Amino acid sequence: MKKLFVLILSALLFAGCAINLLTGRNQLSLVNESELQLMAVSQYRTFLNENKVLSSGSSRDAATVDRVGARIAEAITKYYNNKGQGALLEGYKWEFNTIDSKEINAWCMPGGKVVVYTGLLPVTQTEAALAIVMGHEIAHSVAKHGNERMSQAMVQQLGGMALEVALAQKPQETTNLFMTAYGIGSEVGAMLPWSRQQETEADQYGLIFSAMAGYDPREATAFWQRMSTAGGGSPPEFLSTHPSDETRLRKLKQFIPEAMKYYTPRN
Ligand SMILES: [Zn+2]
Repeated sequence: MKKLFVLILSALLFAGCAINLLTGRNQLSLVNESELQLMAVSQYRTFLNENKVLSSGSSRDAATVDRVGARIAEAITKYYNNKGQGALLEGYKWEFNTIDSKEINAWCMPGGKVVVYTGLLPVTQTEAALAIVMGHEIAHSVAKHGNERMSQAMVQQLGGMALEVALAQKPQETTNLFMTAYGIGSEVGAMLPWSRQQETEADQYGLIFSAMAGYDPREATAFWQRMSTAGGGSPPEFLSTHPSDETRLRKLKQFIPEAMKYYTPRN
C-alpha cells in the first residue's frame, strides 16, 4: 500500500515537473499559473484594503515605486519578447503599490501584483537600489518560484490536492500556504526562506531586468550589504525570506558583468 502511494506520488511529481523557460531548470509545477493569478488578484485586493496604500499623486515615494515598476515591467516584456517567449507573461496585469509601513519588505504575487513597504526605502536609498530589489522580487515571480513553493506545499501538506479543491475545502489553510509561498505577511506564522537556488536565479535575472530598465547593476553589492545589516539587532523579516550571506554576495558580484551588457543609463 505504501509502495503504491510512493509510486503514485512520484508519478504525480514527475508529471508535475516542467522546464522553466527563463532559467532552463526543471521545476515542480503542479499548480496552474492562471489559477494562481486568480487567487493573487483576490489576495492582493484584501491586502490593499487592510493596509495603508499611498497614492502616487500625493506621495513621492509611491510615484517613484510606480515609475521604477513600470520601467521594469517594460524591460521584462522586452526580454521575453526578444526570446520569442512573450506568451509566458500572459495574464500579467502589472500593479505597483506602496504601503505606509515600517516593515522592510517588498514582494510580487503571480500576475505582477507588487507591493513595496516604505520601511524598505531608507535601506534602498537610491532609485537604482529600489529597482534592484524590485527586480529581484519580480524575478521570483516570473521564474515561477512561488508556484514551485506552492506546489511543494500542496504535496507536503495537502496530499497533492488541486488548488481549486483545496480552496473550496480548506480555504484558510490554502491561503496561508499561498502567503507563505510568496513571502507575504508575518501573521501566517513561520516565514519560509527562498532556496539558495531560487535566490541565485532571482539575483541573476533581477539584475538583468533592472539593468534593462536603466538602473546601474553595480549598485547591487552596496545595497545588499546595507540590507544584510538592516534592522540592527532585530533583522527584518525580509532577511529570513531572502537569506543573505557571503556566498550569496560573492555570486551576486559574478552576475554584475552579465547584467552590464543589458545596461543603458537613462538620462
Ligand atoms: Zn529572494
